[in-house]
Amino acid sequence: MIRFNVPPYTGGEMKNVQKAIENMHICGDGEFTRKCSEYLEETTGTAKCLLTTSCTHALEMAALLCDLKEGDEVILPSYTFVSTADAIVLRGAKAVFVDIRPDTMNIDETLIEGAITERTKAIFVVHYAGVACEMDTIMEIAERHHLKVIEDAAQAIMCTYKGKALGTIGDFGCYSFHETKNFSMGEGGALLIRDPKYIETAEILREKGTDRSKYFRGQVDKYRWMNFGSSYLPSDMNAAYLYTQLEMADQINDTRLARWKQYYELLSPLEEAGKIELPIIPEGCEHNGHMFYIKTKDLEERTRLIDFMKANDVLTVFHYVPLHSAPAGMKFGRFHGEDQYTTKESERLLRLPMFYQLKEDEVDYIAGKVKEFYGA
Ligand SMILES: *Cc1c(COP(=O)(O)O)cnc(C)c1O
Repeated sequence: MIRFNVPPYTGGEMKNVQKAIENMHICGDGEFTRKCSEYLEETTGTAKCLLTTSCTHALEMAALLCDLKEGDEVILPSYTFVSTADAIVLRGAKAVFVDIRPDTMNIDETLIEGAITERTKAIFVVHYAGVACEMDTIMEIAERHHLKVIEDAAQAIMCTYKGKALGTIGDFGCYSFHETKNFSMGEGGALLIRDPKYIETAEILREKGTDRSKYFRGQVDKYRWMNFGSSYLPSDMNAAYLYTQLEMADQINDTRLARWKQYYELLSPLEEAGKIELPIIPEGCEHNGHMFYIKTKDLEERTRLIDFMKANDVLTVFHYVPLHSAPAGMKFGRFHGEDQYTTKESERLLRLPMFYQLKEDEVDYIAGKVKEFYGA
């Protein structure tokens, strides 16, 4: 059976986890947490990167730093993971969903302005499959209406938009290091902060409301309760696992991109024959091979293809059930305008196995089976 996902593993992880244990510093903000943050700051160019316990928590921190409150509205796509919306509704704000673009499955930037009211405080964008949203337009709208922009870049580490790292363009960016992502620490994430004026508040928020980060840097002689906060810092053992992979980031990224291209080339004839659609990467966007998906004719064909692949020992999966149609989405949100593409396109999308350890001959086999299904 070819699994849909295998957690990334390079072989060197245990050595670094052992080192963290020998350091006798297994709680947060030890050697490996610092190394991961510095690596991410250097490679993305963000002002500050704080490692967190998950991307969900990084999104929660971003919502707190934006001071979202009851009565506020936040614009986001309905085609996303629940965490994007959870961060918003946990603050009592309303989720205002707008439609996606069928080419990238990202929020349709041309529909954002029409959804803005005097209550709108922020736009949460999601870079689906590591392919950037149209950030120039989105940032321009946000500036004109004085809105904050949060990038849910959970899938988009090492991706760029017009040369800029995703996660660094909006006010806050959120990465995920869950086991399903390109780089992992089991559970984990990172908050990227563009404007240094938020760094101190963010550090306090992450450290249970204390100025412990300043204390550790020797900037204050005792640490005190300064503001509300929570515990958003991951264990240094987890960071040690992640750092091993960040040290090999190019190799991991190149391998994924190679598998992605292989799928693309093998399945192109099916697209040319009008049987399926393949992902579209717009000009100026560099992705990270996070996901390879195809689009079938409709839901019925997709269900048959999933069954066919399973019968041939390949696990394929569909993705998000649009949030506005889910119970919590109906309770906490509303869909602005018409759902032209969100439901329709989500029902056609099928993800093929994609992970670092996936072998070339496995991609050959999987693509061959998809072709067989379509009689090609
Ligand atoms: C994976 C993912 C998340 C959640 O990440 P966690 O680290 O598991 O909290 C949020 N948003 C998107 C778009 C994701 O793909």
